Amino acid sequence: MAWIRTTITCRHCGKPGLYGNRDWIQACYKRWINAGRPTSGPPPAPVRQQREAWIPSRPSAVGRLEDYRFLREQGELDKEMLADRLNLSIRHVERLIAADRILAQQAESEAA
Ligand SMILES: [Zn+2]
Repeated sequence: MAWIRTTITCRHCGKPGLYGNRDWIQACYKRWINAGRPTSGPPPAPVRQQREAWIPSRPSAVGRLEDYRFLREQGELDKEMLADRLNLSIRHVERLIAADRILAQQAESEAA
């Protein structure tokens, strides 16, 4: 039987996805196979850990966030360039971008 390339609503979890087998989506079907085909059906999907967002609190970190904002206001948006100008790793710049976004959202929701 051909692998049906179609999107279905999973009979197991109710989520949309590519058809796997047994009226389950592929994600559920593969989890079930990997779990050794338990008669109880697919094991529950792993819960994706929502990591606590990093917000700078130490003065040095707050200072770096301000430096980042300054450069962004100057029109510098390239992560590699920002990392270079701030003398930080790209990963650190990404954290600053994420923290800046969260702080902006918080300010927005407080203003509303
Ligand atoms: Zn499912």
